[in-house]
Amino acid sequence: MKKTISFVVPVYNEAENLREFYKRLTEVMAGIEYDYQLLFVDDGSNDGSVLILKELTRNDERVQAFLLSRNFGHQMALTCGLDNACGDAVITMDGDLQHPPELVPELISLWEAGSEIVQTVRRDTEDASFFKKLTSRLYYKLINKMSKVSITPGGSDFRLMDRLAVDALNLYGERARFIRGLVNNLGYKVASVEFVAPPRFAGSSKFNLRKMLHFALDGITAFSKVPLRWAFYIGLLCGLGSMLVLFHVIYIKLITDDAVPGWATLSASILFLGGVQLVGLGIIGEYVGRVFEEVKQRPLYLVKQHLKKE
Ligand code: UDP
Ligand code: MG
Repeated sequence: MKKTISFVVPVYNEAENLREFYKRLTEVMAGIEYDYQLLFVDDGSNDGSVLILKELTRNDERVQAFLLSRNFGHQMALTCGLDNACGDAVITMDGDLQHPPELVPELISLWEAGSEIVQTVRRDTEDASFFKKLTSRLYYKLINKMSKVSITPGGSDFRLMDRLAVDALNLYGERARFIRGLVNNLGYKVASVEFVAPPRFAGSSKFNLRKMLHFALDGITAFSKVPLRWAFYIGLLCGLGSMLVLFHVIYIKLITDDAVPGWATLSASILFLGGVQLVGLGIIGEYVGRVFEEVKQRPLYLVKQHLKKE
């Protein structure tokens, strides 16, 4: 019996890319001996992507679409697809053709050779700005220093996962999903494939600075307690420092006669310590906020409609 590959493709305002994506993937799959299903997850698009998904699902029984009730974000859209995929292997890829469908046969052959996870690594992204490349490089350095889980720089959400790995990943219920980190944490055998991400076929990146920052913070706080420790050490250091100042104050007051009201030292140290305390509180607040998000146990995403050929 032929094995089945499920493709999971998050879509957020990709109307100009979907037909081309479908065409190129279909061409690639026609050349190899596998059954497949193509699951689009529409993440609350408002540009006509849904109309195109309706058309694709009407004409091809291998295509299905899950329409989320609003924009839940890339990682949640991926999660919805992974929950609903039933293939022997699942390949997640973006719908903007920055993850070239032509790479799929290579991913599959590495899977057949025994790797439960085949991770692609971007060697370069042709249309990424200097700023995005630089911040991304620094970010991966930082997160790898701070957490025990190693996260591949340039790792993308273009990967193949064996059924075993998908089932394992689906057991993770956390809201702050940094799927790249979770996947590396599963412990299955990982192979990697390098590629250069071409520019988007059409449209512009759906990640603005706010979304990027949020995603970056999710990654750090989900995999590292180091910032909390920093807050503690900084607090400790300042505590020691203020003890010294206290001795100095007592000395001036009791031993010498020049106890001039030293407002400068006083206000400086109050401001400094206040600042440090706020930083500490901010870091703790960030984690407490995340605990709050998790304990509410809200659903990760809501599906409004499931489109497939009758
Ligand atoms: N995407 C999504 N929800 C979002 C933002 C993006 O489903 O809130 C999808 C988007 O349609 C694309 C993929 O996630 O298929 C990657 O997004 P994008 O290409 O904008 O990111 P970049 O390649 O610039 O990092
Ligand atoms: Mg892209």
